[in-house]
Amino acid sequence: MKEKRAKILVCDDEISIIEVLRTVLSEKYDVITAERGQQAIELFRKEFPDLIILDVSMPGMTGFEVLDKIKDHLEEKYIPVIFLTASIKIDDKLKALHGGAVDYLVKPVSPDELIARIQNFLELKKKHDTLKKEATFDWLTGALNKGYFLRRAKEELEKSQRNKVPLTFMLVDIDHFKEINDTLGHLAGDRVICEFAERLKHFVRKIDVIGRFGGDEFMFVLSHKTGKEARLVAERLKKAMKKPIIFEKNRINLTFSMGIVEIEQAQTIDIKELLTLADKALYEAKMKGGDRYVIK
Ligand code: GH3
Ligand code: MG
Repeated sequence: MKEKRAKILVCDDEISIIEVLRTVLSEKYDVITAERGQQAIELFRKEFPDLIILDVSMPGMTGFEVLDKIKDHLEEKYIPVIFLTASIKIDDKLKALHGGAVDYLVKPVSPDELIARIQNFLELKKKHDTLKKEATFDWLTGALNKGYFLRRAKEELEKSQRNKVPLTFMLVDIDHFKEINDTLGHLAGDRVICEFAERLKHFVRKIDVIGRFGGDEFMFVLSHKTGKEARLVAERLKKAMKKPIIFEKNRINLTFSMGIVEIEQAQTIDIKELLTLADKALYEAKMKGGDRYVIK
């Protein structure tokens, strides 16, 4: 498969520089350009570039100010910022590097050197993005992994307490999943876990968070949902899971159990207590024979 071209955002107030950089870079990369800092910030938000080349002094907003405004997003995504400027002042150099830029080059720069440096940072970015993906998502289902889910769940819990809005946690586990592995094999088990996750994802909105806790156990957070609304979601989920999962001509029927925890407005509970409650609720549902939910 052909590799996707990297997208580079160039911001410089001198059109002649922009044109030179466009000519030099566009053979290898997709180039988007801005002549002002504000425009660069807007493009950054809209276009998700892989790397940014910034001038220092520009009318209106300096390159430093641009970097400062987008810095929070750079940590999340790792987008290398290279300063390319006429300024040889050591203070500017230090300000750029301390401010989060990965490199500081003084004009004029040889096109080959610029491309070599860009290439190195893009390689680093690729490695960073792969590691980040592996550290964030579960490899089989694409849901969040447990560690990352818990981080996000904690944030959602704190947000709901701050804003005094309800929140519901659902811990979901397939009943007798092991039998599927034992009778049809692990590949069938994998297929069931994936399809189960897909159907779960169907019920969460963009603002909700879903994670795989391991094996056949998933948890999700429904923001702003009360226990009553969660009950409705649970009923709909039950219905959606009734459709058999097909694996190599086998029709696999499954049921699942849920431990639901409703957090009322402004209730103070920490994530550990919440998980214990969800575990208890799920355990109760299993003890009662499975194929049901218990709300705490
Ligand atoms: P219960 O009704 O009490 O929930 O029991 P269960 O059989 O559903 O669950 P149990 O916890 O006893 O077993 C889960 C099994 O899931 C054990 C483990 O070997 C298997 N498993 C864990 N991860 C994976 C995976 O990624 N793929 C497959 N196919 N199996 C997995
Ligand atoms: Mg299970």
